[in-house]
Amino acid sequence: MNGIDFSQRRDAMIESHIAGRGIRSQLVLEAMHAVPREAFLPQDLHEFAYQDAPLPIAEGQTISQPYIVALMTEALALKGGETVLEIGTGSGYAAAILAQIAKEVYTVERIGQLAEKAAAVLSDLGYRNVHVLHADGTRGWEDHAPYDAIVVAAGGPEVPESLKAQLKIGGRLVIPVGADRRFQELVRVTRISELRYETEDIADVRFVPLVGAEGWATPTDDATTAKPHKGITAARQIPEKIIAASREEFDSIASADLEPLLRRIGDARVVLLGEASHGTSEFYRMRERISRELIERKGFSFIAIEGDWPDAARIDHYVRHATYPASEWTAFARFPTWMWRNREVRDFVDWLRKRNGQVESGRRVAFHGLDLYSLFTSIESILTYLDDIDPQTAQVARQRYGCLTPWQADPATYGHATLTGGYQTCEHEVVSMLSDLLQKHRSYAEHDGERFLDAVQNAKLIASAEQYYRIMYYGSRASWNLRDSHMFGTLQNLLQFHGPESKAIVWAHNSHVGDSAATEMSARGEYNIGHLCREEFGNAVYSIGFGTNSGTVAAASDWDGPMEIKTVRPALSQSYERLCHDAGGARFQLPLRAPKTADLIGALSKPRLERAIGVIYRPETELQSHYFQAVLPHQFDEYIWFDKTEAVSPFATGELEGLPDTYPFGL
Ligand code: SAH
Repeated sequence: MNGIDFSQRRDAMIESHIAGRGIRSQLVLEAMHAVPREAFLPQDLHEFAYQDAPLPIAEGQTISQPYIVALMTEALALKGGETVLEIGTGSGYAAAILAQIAKEVYTVERIGQLAEKAAAVLSDLGYRNVHVLHADGTRGWEDHAPYDAIVVAAGGPEVPESLKAQLKIGGRLVIPVGADRRFQELVRVTRISELRYETEDIADVRFVPLVGAEGWATPTDDATTAKPHKGITAARQIPEKIIAASREEFDSIASADLEPLLRRIGDARVVLLGEASHGTSEFYRMRERISRELIERKGFSFIAIEGDWPDAARIDHYVRHATYPASEWTAFARFPTWMWRNREVRDFVDWLRKRNGQVESGRRVAFHGLDLYSLFTSIESILTYLDDIDPQTAQVARQRYGCLTPWQADPATYGHATLTGGYQTCEHEVVSMLSDLLQKHRSYAEHDGERFLDAVQNAKLIASAEQYYRIMYYGSRASWNLRDSHMFGTLQNLLQFHGPESKAIVWAHNSHVGDSAATEMSARGEYNIGHLCREEFGNAVYSIGFGTNSGTVAAASDWDGPMEIKTVRPALSQSYERLCHDAGGARFQLPLRAPKTADLIGALSKPRLERAIGVIYRPETELQSHYFQAVLPHQFDEYIWFDKTEAVSPFATGELEGLPDTYPFGL
């Protein structure tokens, strides 16, 4: 008629938005192919018929989004030949889809004009098995009850009792319900027996209100507001649509406009930058881009990483052009080497060194490590320091730390041995050493404040690590908490050391920086640096999580195993990652801090799965090994999404050997 090839558009929409988003039922897909959606729309909207979106029809109502119609129809689990009741005829489109599968469709519409128009269109299209009634559908349609399935296309405060009563035993009722009339949960109620019903959650959705005796009393919240639902459409309100409407997309890491993000960060003193794996290039590079802006535009004073103190100290020595002798061992040489010894990190380190070279020494940005796995390099570092400035104390330190020497090859055996083998613990030794050092603050720090900080941090690390390996034996919770407390304590010391005006950037995994109170960790009694920061700094901490759907990642199969480049499986349904993937868009930032994003927060506040890949990735047991429950908008202030990602580029062995002496990572 106007030259539009509707059937081609229909096929394309079904392929990408219906089948493409996980609708599997052959009956539903065939029905979607058979019904001409344009016939249910006013002429001027025909060209939009096969966008997967709801559209306005008369009376401030909407024709449902095709995906939602398909999702609800699939949830009814029809096999063909059933008697179905629909509440909310609207345009009649969903009734036509149902009529392709069911034997008889009874549909009820509250607005007379819509009921008439829908009946006419359905009849013109030749549907003889659809029966339209103008009435309040919250009461059902008694005459033809009981029904095999009932579907409601408008959201009420609760499931109407009349509808439950009109279900056959074994029948399914799919309906959006929610106490807030702006949001609903799509639920399926199955009648198990005469008196028993079972309810399942299907999705977060937003529909026009179900108005009637067993629904909302009035069509709007406020009777004086004219048609507030015009333009508010069911589909726009489902989470992936809200994500699509709220996000800030960008073309590349280099060109991303970070102005809005910097404004949101405002005067925050601590910015936590996460990652959803320890081996994804995009996470590192975006984190670095943000860090460069924070340093140059907002005067951030140091970066603190989820890496060991003495290893990061070597990088710090290099980037701040320190003049005292650098330690001689290789930084980040222990498993997992690729986490820091990679090109992405090296590019940043080189940039930072150059940048620092252009400012006076007091304004150079430092690079520190928060983690505690370097028991023996920390001991070595302290001994070197003491040999240099106080050889007598160095003797004492050698003796005390000697207590730990038997466990050097495998510190994890220390806890086991002290508990079961009658070996003495070294707690007293390491704690005494730390307090001796702290007491010498005045005389040592006068000598060189930076080197004293380094020694104290190493002594604290040794004390924490001694305890860590001892309690590790009891299980993971206590040692996890000890480790994150240590990291948080280090961050606090650093803020104190760098002065009241100092500001910190933290690079660590999402599982450390996202507030543990918003994840299943809290149910296990675990907390993390993100939570401790939130308690301490409130809104003066801004935490950013990262996520991806698929691609490759650098990870091992087992602890201490070799690095492999592994394929990341597409995100599981029920996960935040799947929502972001379904929202479309290759890269985006998603601001999550209230109040501006209340709609988004509302839509994402139901707990979902979230994926965490660490240094180990086991795709074979992905659900058990890598997914946990979380409430994303409470966990982070912002989420940065890369739909497809690539593994980091670790240093090749040849490169390691050929590095010049001054190179920060060492030989
Ligand atoms: N299935 C429809 C979508 C309609 S939107 C389609 O595919 O086009 C929801 C419809 O429910 C609106 O037309 C609204 O008027 C109607 N509605 C709201 N409360 C109702 C009630 N109590 N009984 C029947 N219809 C109702």
